[in-house]
Amino acid sequence: MKYDRLVVPPGKKVRLKDYDPGYTGDYKDKEQARAKLETDIGRLAKLQDTLYAQNTYALLIIFQAMDAAGKDGTIKHVMSGVNPQGTQVCSFKVPSAEELDHDYLWRYCKALPERGRIGIFNRSYYEETLVVRVHHELLQLQQLPPESLKKNIWKQRFEDINNFERYLVRNRIEVLKFFLNVSKEEQRRRFLARINTPEKNWKFSFNDAKERSHWDDYMRAFESVFRHTSTEWAPWHIIPADQKWFTHAAVADIIISKLKSLKLAYPVVSPDRLEELAKAKDLLEKEPAGD
Ligand code: AMP
Ligand code: MG
Repeated sequence: MKYDRLVVPPGKKVRLKDYDPGYTGDYKDKEQARAKLETDIGRLAKLQDTLYAQNTYALLIIFQAMDAAGKDGTIKHVMSGVNPQGTQVCSFKVPSAEELDHDYLWRYCKALPERGRIGIFNRSYYEETLVVRVHHELLQLQQLPPESLKKNIWKQRFEDINNFERYLVRNRIEVLKFFLNVSKEEQRRRFLARINTPEKNWKFSFNDAKERSHWDDYMRAFESVFRHTSTEWAPWHIIPADQKWFTHAAVADIIISKLKSLKLAYPVVSPDRLEELAKAKDLLEKEPAGD
């Protein structure tokens, strides 16, 4: 399936109202999407194996969304077949005192994936232009002098982030960005399910309901993020998230396309190394059996 329509063209003014959270593409039903995901999980495992062996590229996958949009579930399902040794998941919460004492990208830099790995950011530096923009008081905690707190701080942050991501991509840390686009009504249903199901209670905090009252402010902040930080080198994908099966299938498909585009290959073995391997084989074969 083609996912071009889910990509935000660089510089485009985005209105989230134009993006349908219930869109399910060409899939006939849930079963068809599940079957596709199943196949893709196997493909992803193979690609990751090559990525790891080649040890040249890394892939940073960023997930941003409103609460209950399905970030955790998407990570769980899409990455279920990959070797845990080649993957790093990092969830970013409210910053600590130590983190607030540093520049705002510091804690994210420390968590970047090594070459050969897939790094997943469950929330990311984009929170510095989302929750911090919606709740201005959070910016006051960032130890910045008054002259840095002018209105153009968001434009500056977008510029920093674009440059930072360009730096990453030039260093062959490829960047994929997903916004899971859940509707306000579907969020309400999922919150109620979290409250009504004892096994899901832990997923709900009263603060989630409070954040919901800032829904429109968040939508505006997201639109601004997409307009300013969807770039040629690191475009945003707006993934419909009211049907979890579509979200999972679409995200897996896009990750696979990205990895395929890197033309990954196992390292070529040099003639010297081939000779070494032949010698080792010879020694092993000559060993008396059962030793
Ligand atoms: P959750 O991902 O649901 O466990 O919640 C993490 C919480 O941390 C969310 O309420 C985020 O808004 C908050 N958070 C994440 N990053 C930041 C940040 N840079 N500044 C302030 N709050 C943040
Ligand atoms: Mg939460």
